[in-house]
Amino acid sequence: MLKDQTLGIIGGGQLGSMMCQAAKKIGIKTVVISDDKDGPAQNYCDKFIYSNYDKLENLQKFTQLVDFVTYEFENIPFKTLNNINIIKPVFPSPKINQIVQNRQREKMFINGLGIKTTPWAFIKSKEDIKKNKNLLPGILKTCTLGYDGHGQHILNSIKDIKKEWCFSDNYILEKLVDLKKEISVIITRFNNGSYSLYEPIENIHKKQILEKSLIPADISQNIYEQSLNTAKDISEKLNYVGTMCVEYFIDKKQNLFVNEIAPRVHNSGHLTINAFNISQFENHVRAVCDLDILPVKKISNAEMINILGNNINNYREKSFKNGEFFFDYLKKNIKEKRKMGHITTLK
Ligand code: ADP
Ligand code: MG
Repeated sequence: MLKDQTLGIIGGGQLGSMMCQAAKKIGIKTVVISDDKDGPAQNYCDKFIYSNYDKLENLQKFTQLVDFVTYEFENIPFKTLNNINIIKPVFPSPKINQIVQNRQREKMFINGLGIKTTPWAFIKSKEDIKKNKNLLPGILKTCTLGYDGHGQHILNSIKDIKKEWCFSDNYILEKLVDLKKEISVIITRFNNGSYSLYEPIENIHKKQILEKSLIPADISQNIYEQSLNTAKDISEKLNYVGTMCVEYFIDKKQNLFVNEIAPRVHNSGHLTINAFNISQFENHVRAVCDLDILPVKKISNAEMINILGNNINNYREKSFKNGEFFFDYLKKNIKEKRKMGHITTLK
């Protein structure tokens, strides 16, 4: 049974757009609030509110228009989400987002469950790095606001610390993993504890940005099972509602480490739109709007390639073969390294 419900989405980028499209497919209306007046989700939502995320009046208007609230990015102040949650249910819950949006809290939570991450330390000063020399070569990452490698510095030795760094932000220093492979697992968990797990996805990054995702991932049965079980455990411990992604590193010795959790739909899951009967986006909308869980079935193996920057123009003119699906995010400004679209090919 379709219900006459409206989902509020904070953030108007490609993830918001794809959530709106999924919602439309199952008869759910959407209201998007975005601080980008060109936010592409305005092409797909029923109502678009252009506003900063701290403008109380607009947040109230947004909240009044919707039945449930979700978000497409994690960098939203806890207070903002919590205030909305008092009036309309926000999924994933603001408390989950508060943990995951901060790398230190996230790693402490994961390690607290007895799950391995790469060795790491909390860093507030140059001295802290010197004290943790054993983590070099490593990557210094800001605790908050990082994405696509933003806010990250590779440190081969103490000498790589730049004089101008004032350490006004909090950081973590993570040991560099001798990577064999990266994979991710996408899980959607519903309010009643039921869940759908997608098979592990293999991810190839270039300069810290996702370049390609594919299924099936070329991994051992052991890693396959371990990665699914870990994602399930994490979602249960968080009492998670919605779609979540766990990113993993596999090192050359076949160790599996959790890299990070994304409390949202994820770029590596874009191939689920064409390769499964129910995409990560539809599953997210279903879980957040408290609809029934449906069995997820794979249709095909697939490969997804991100299209960055100017490269989008090559695809806009192209003709596509059967089994190729091109997604143009309809972003007005083309910027180098900006995710402009993707193409999924069924294999
Ligand atoms: P973001 O929030 O930008 O996605 P990540 O921590 O996932 O940040 O880093 C982005 C990418 O950089 C990873 O997918 C991986 O390719 C590389 N990377 C990050 N940390 C490490 C590490 N400790 N060892 C090896 N590679 C890493
Ligand atoms: Mg990442």
